Amino acid sequence: MTMVNAFDPARVADFAEDEAALIARRQRLLGPAYRLFYAHPVQVARAEGVWLYGRNGEAYLDAYNNVASVGHSHPHVVAALARQAATLNTHTRYITEGILDYAERLLATMPASISNVMFTCTGSEANDLALRVAKAVTGGTGVIVTENAYHGVTDLLAQMSPSLGPSAPISSMVRMVAAPTGLADAGAVLARNVGEAIDDMAAHGIRPAALLVDTIFSSDGVFADPAGFLAPAVEAIRRAGGIFIADEVQPGFGRTGAGMWGFARHGLTPDIVTMGKPMGDGHPMAAMAARPEHLEAFGRNVRYFNTFGGNPVSCAVGMAVLDVIEAEALIANSRDVGAFFKGELEALAAVDGRVGAVRGAGLFIGVDIVDAEGAPDGAAAAEIVNGLRERRVLISATGRRGHSLKIRPPMVFSQQNVELFMDRLRETLASL
Ligand code: PMP
Repeated sequence: MTMVNAFDPARVADFAEDEAALIARRQRLLGPAYRLFYAHPVQVARAEGVWLYGRNGEAYLDAYNNVASVGHSHPHVVAALARQAATLNTHTRYITEGILDYAERLLATMPASISNVMFTCTGSEANDLALRVAKAVTGGTGVIVTENAYHGVTDLLAQMSPSLGPSAPISSMVRMVAAPTGLADAGAVLARNVGEAIDDMAAHGIRPAALLVDTIFSSDGVFADPAGFLAPAVEAIRRAGGIFIADEVQPGFGRTGAGMWGFARHGLTPDIVTMGKPMGDGHPMAAMAARPEHLEAFGRNVRYFNTFGGNPVSCAVGMAVLDVIEAEALIANSRDVGAFFKGELEALAAVDGRVGAVRGAGLFIGVDIVDAEGAPDGAAAAEIVNGLRERRVLISATGRRGHSLKIRPPMVFSQQNVELFMDRLRETLASL
């Protein structure tokens, strides 16, 4: 991803000797493709709940990491992981019950038509598999994504991830549509853009396979409203013979505060759902859920085996994550704390011209930072992200111009955490 708040290696001389040495060692060993967050990178040693702790025990409020969805190192998840690891860990070519129990519980959260699930280790693998299924089902090859989408790390998905920037070329089979407008007409505009992309494919002899979107549009800048705006675009792709893949890697597992899945806010039943990040509270696991008739076309002649995907430890972890979401009522917490958070940010926007539109659903919030003319101000957003980091609060920025603050804490975030966040944000704004 084009990173707006990435650490600049030229600044390493500004840091303490041991910190600078670690950064240099990292660069020597991991090579040049890795990026660190923040002008002053953060070194972390342990974590718990919504807190990350540095090497000297200093606490950072985590308002960014949706992977640790039910809180960092949740004891119920850790215990399930350790118990299963001490009992058995193999793969899906033996009969084990854990994967069936987990598949049943996961599929129970989906629309009835989506009744098969296939397990992977990463969101990229889930999207890659979804595209193979889409091509087999439709006979098409064309894929529509949004203009600053990110869908994964494989060769195929990097070619449908414009947020990686101009050095990662987009496939000739892919058409990009503008990010949603955030306005009342978002549905009509998106559907029109998708229609034009379909026409352009036809003009180039490309048959559409899929519309692939992150249902909270996180790398485009976080677009949640008006709920339902995605539906006309989905109708358009289906009319053209393609299918709809809901990438739930970001919004899935309750984050939007309106049920388990981002697509539900749009009143949609996808053809394929991909999921990952928050699924294992940090344990690497992901999946693709689909309609059985679609997998019939795909799986009849091709076998599927993923060495680690769906292993007993991952399934035990996934189950424990679902336990915690239920036991701690985290979907309701996302809804209520998210609404309070948005309200506080909107109140700040009313008195500070640098804070523009506040968007989002539940604990997934985007905040535009704008200049005196109201134009996107990516440089100021980066200063805010780094200013918060200096005050030990962690967020990032997103969107094509990098001007939208991306706020996406573990779902156990409390009203008190929001109040601390707002104090630190006001301090940061006052210091600029
Ligand atoms: N889809 C979306 C919307 C994502 O945000 C990401 C990861 N940032 C992926 C897919 C890829 O997931 P992974 O990194 O687990 O391969």
